[in-house]
Amino acid sequence: MIHIERSTNLKVKPAQEKLGFGQYFTDHMFMLDYDVTKGWHDARIVPYQPITLDPAAKVFHYGQTIFEGLKAYRGGDSRIRLFRPEANIARMNRSNVRMSVPQLDSDQVLAALEKLIEVDAKWIPSEPGTSLYIRPFVFATQPVLGVAPSEQYQFIIIMSPVGAYYPEGINPVRIFVESEHVRASVGGVGEAKTAGNYAATFMSQQTAKEAGYTQVMWLDSAQHRFIEEVGSMNVFFRIDGKVCTPALSGSILAGITRSSIIQLLASWGIAVEERTISIEELYEAGREGRLEEAFGTGTAAVVSPIGELCWQGERLIIGESRTGELAKRLYDALTGIQYGTVEDTFGWVKAVDVQAALV
Ligand SMILES: *Cc1c(COP(=O)(O)O)cnc(C)c1O
Repeated sequence: MIHIERSTNLKVKPAQEKLGFGQYFTDHMFMLDYDVTKGWHDARIVPYQPITLDPAAKVFHYGQTIFEGLKAYRGGDSRIRLFRPEANIARMNRSNVRMSVPQLDSDQVLAALEKLIEVDAKWIPSEPGTSLYIRPFVFATQPVLGVAPSEQYQFIIIMSPVGAYYPEGINPVRIFVESEHVRASVGGVGEAKTAGNYAATFMSQQTAKEAGYTQVMWLDSAQHRFIEEVGSMNVFFRIDGKVCTPALSGSILAGITRSSIIQLLASWGIAVEERTISIEELYEAGREGRLEEAFGTGTAAVVSPIGELCWQGERLIIGESRTGELAKRLYDALTGIQYGTVEDTFGWVKAVDVQAALV
């Protein structure tokens, strides 16, 4: 049972061309509390509002917090679709296990998600490329400074209408290869979508931005040679006509877009090699003209082509800095499934019945 308290003070919705990413939030949010004696309890949808926490809440001191990110898409047929939401909930629970946060009931979270989308259905934008970004997160609330897992938590879902990632069409980006700092190490928490992993990247990201690059490419922590991810995206390469991506080593986030792309390519008869890929191999292939394409993958951009790398001062132009043919084909196929213009033969899409709430 979800208790619903509707807002009596609905917000003015922003113009769809001004949405950007994560700047505006819908009228409501979902909340669920945890206590070691009661388990998860008190499921409720309430007006979007600030939350009050004790300054000793463990999340501030020891970082026990996990988040997820997925989207609801409004198709040209006015139907609302979620893309593989069960995969996000399963990943959240894997992250929870790693960070000693109690697991959530997948059915309860999915039901909460659908109800919240129904309550705020009018917030799902309709312009091409726009969507409703959904951010579930969980954090430790127990006000005790002892260095041990919290006995109290809160789980919240907030939602934000977001603009088209590529308002001027899909475009390659320039990427700075970070050879000093690392994002995560094998055996650590790189596989978990936990807050500290992101704070750890901001310094390099800032340096890269100042040098004119959009994002950072991360290398492995032991040898600073093997490619891991790009920003908060997984990464794929086409070398000599073959597609490869770094194998999930434990320090790489297992992207749902990554897994979808591997399955899509398999359905087209293109096998993806999941293996270690060194930056030396990449540069050698690049210098010899065998590196045909590089692209990042993630929920926000879906596919983000990489037109240029810079590693230890050496610039490498990839595919004449143009969007590769495979990247474009994958982008069209995945977004087509998400917006309902391409048949979903994989069972990835979950339609949410909110027609009544839309009018
Ligand atoms: C979320 C995330 C991704 C992409 O995952 P998707 O499920 O495809 O959105 C990749 N790398 C990192 C570090 C991430 O946090």
